[in-house]
Amino acid sequence: MRCPNCGSGENKVVDSRVSDSANSIRRRRECEKCGKRFTSYETIERISLLVVKKDGSRQAFDSQKIKNGIIAATEKRAVSIKQIDAIVDRIEAKIAENFQTDQEVPSSYIGELAMEELRKIDEVAYVRYAAVYRQFKDISTFFEFVKNLEKEISDLDAAEQ
Ligand SMILES: [Zn+2]
Repeated sequence: MRCPNCGSGENKVVDSRVSDSANSIRRRRECEKCGKRFTSYETIERISLLVVKKDGSRQAFDSQKIKNGIIAATEKRAVSIKQIDAIVDRIEAKIAENFQTDQEVPSSYIGELAMEELRKIDEVAYVRYAAVYRQFKDISTFFEFVKNLEKEISDLDAAEQ
């Protein structure tokens, strides 16, 4: 990304936000040489990132994998493919907002985003996803998780009344 004023390639991002359509990210940049500010747009489909897994291995970011995980968690639930696509879009947009091209993203970050999204639309899907993602050590840890979840939900219900 070159400065339109002086052609320098050195710049810093001063602001980034996702466009309304959620498929491009707008970055406000400032040239480190001449100080001129300019805007760049990056298509989210184009982001190339490395995902770092818990075991330290790395692989290219692939939104299809996120989608597959969500499809598995929402199986036989009243969640449409449209909703799933929207979730994947939002996750990608969040990642693009917080990481720049060629940076490494921890897989845990993506997992947390997916859980957050599922939680908003379907409790069962959320629990399923969490069960796989968090890899509960044993059944009692899992029940502990469900118990906390129930409590949180009933607190929420109480707050709404
Ligand atoms: Zn410049």
